[in-house]
Amino acid sequence: MERSRITHFKEQLLKEKEQLEGDLNESATKDDGHWETKRQPFDEAGRFDEEERADEVEEYENETSIDRQLETRLEDITGALHKIDADTYGICERCGKAIDETRLTANPAAHTHVHCNTASRT
Ligand SMILES: [Zn+2]
Repeated sequence: MERSRITHFKEQLLKEKEQLEGDLNESATKDDGHWETKRQPFDEAGRFDEEERADEVEEYENETSIDRQLETRLEDITGALHKIDADTYGICERCGKAIDETRLTANPAAHTHVHCNTASRT
């Protein structure tokens, strides 16, 4: 891939990374390179009343799963940025061939071809 294209994707990745980190900072703290959610389903005394708290737990679970999604996305982006540094950006992790630029334009953090990804995701 041309250097100018890679630079373009890198800029996109860095921009999205910044955004994600901003979002995560609102709901999680970074601990040892891992994001820990700040949200807690417990009350101030540390009690956990299932009946009263059911709604809050549901909300907690929804929000936590959003945090997880953000975290996974951030890992993808960080991985892609490492690949740019290592000069392996745009290479499919499954089959080792170049990923088409239309896919990278849609998702600069893509690690695989669409078909490779759906074929072997566990
Ligand atoms: Zn592939």
